[in-house]
Amino acid sequence: MASLYDTLGVAKNASPDEIKKAYRKLARELHPDRNPGNAEAEEKFKSVQSAYDVLSDPEKRKQYDAFGNGRPGGGPGPGGFDFDFGNVDLGDIFGGIFSRGRGGGQARRPAAEKGADVEAVVNVSFEDSLRGVQTQIPVELVTACSECGGSGAQPGTAPVICPECNGRGVKAESQGLFSLSQPCPRCRGNGTVIEKPCPQCNGSGRERRTKRYSVRIPEGVKDGTRIRLAGKGEAGLRGGPAGDLYVVTRVATSPVFQRRGPADLEVEVPVTYAEAALGSSVDVPSPYGGRLSLKVPAGSETGKLLRLKGHGAPRLKGSGKGDLIARLRLTVPKKLSKKQKQLLEEYARATQEAPREEVFG
Ligand SMILES: [Zn+2]
Ligand SMILES: [Zn+2]
Repeated sequence: MASLYDTLGVAKNASPDEIKKAYRKLARELHPDRNPGNAEAEEKFKSVQSAYDVLSDPEKRKQYDAFGNGRPGGGPGPGGFDFDFGNVDLGDIFGGIFSRGRGGGQARRPAAEKGADVEAVVNVSFEDSLRGVQTQIPVELVTACSECGGSGAQPGTAPVICPECNGRGVKAESQGLFSLSQPCPRCRGNGTVIEKPCPQCNGSGRERRTKRYSVRIPEGVKDGTRIRLAGKGEAGLRGGPAGDLYVVTRVATSPVFQRRGPADLEVEVPVTYAEAALGSSVDVPSPYGGRLSLKVPAGSETGKLLRLKGHGAPRLKGSGKGDLIARLRLTVPKKLSKKQKQLLEEYARATQEAPREEVFG
C-alpha cells in the first residue's frame, strides 16, 4: 500500500511547505473539470485530499509516522488509520479550492460589508451660503492601504488559500457520529491567509489617512444642512462598497439678515414716524449686495412685516428664491433740528385737539 507521502509525491521528511505545494499542484491537476468522466482521476483526487488532511496536521502526521497506515498495535483492518474519508464532499472541496459553488458546499465566507459613513463639518460664510461655494474639505478616513491596495499582503505576494480549511472558512470536526462545522481558527473564516503581511498596514489592508475632497456647497445651504457624497466614505470590507461622506455646513450668522423658514430671510428696517404714518418708499439692503426699494404703506406700525418676493435665500429643493421679509422698526430721533422741533410741537397740538379714542382704545 502506497504511503501518504507517496500519494503526494514527497519525501518522508518533507517540510509542511513542500507538502502544501505538492498538494496544491496535484489538486489542480486532478480536478474533475480537467478530467471529465475520469473516475481514476477522481479517486486519485480523493486520496490526495486524504493524504493532505493527515500530513498537513502536525498532530495527525506524528501519529501517522508513529503507527503507519494501521491502528496502533492492530492489524490492517478496513479503515486502517482512524480517519474517515468516506463522506468527503467533493463539492465542498472544489468549492473551497476553486471558489466555485457546487451545491452542497457549506462554505460561508463573511459577506462583503459597506464601509462606514463619515461626517465632516465645513464652515461657510453667510454670503457663500447664498451664492454657493467650491471648497476643500479634509476628511480623516480609513481607506484601502495604498501599499497593498487593500489585500493586506505584502506587495508582490497575494493571500493564499487557507491550508487549514482549504478555503472553506469552516472546519468540520468529527465527534463520533457527528461532524461539527466551526469557523476555521487559522483564517478566522476568511478562507485565505496572508503569509507575508503588508508592512505598511500590518496585514489589515486598511490605513487611516486624511483625504482632501473638493466639494461644491450648493447655494441656499443653512446651518446644519447635510450634503451626501455617495461613495466618499470609508473603504468597504472584503470588496464591499465604500460608505458615504456627509458634509455638514456650519453657516456663519449675518449681522443684518436672519434665516426664516425654508428659504426666507428677515431684515430689520428702521422707519421714521412720518414714513410709517404717511407711507413712503425706503431703502432696504439686499442680501446679494446693493439696495432694494420697499414701499411702506401709510399707517404702518412698528413690527409690521412686509415681503419683498424672490429676494430671500435660494431654495435648496426646487428652484427660485424665498422672500426677503422687512420688519419695520419705528425710530425716535434723539436730536431734532429747530425746524423739526417746531413741526413736532405743531403736530402735538393738533393731536391733542383730535379725538383720543384711537390712543386709549
Ligand atoms: Zn497594506
Ligand atoms: Zn481556514
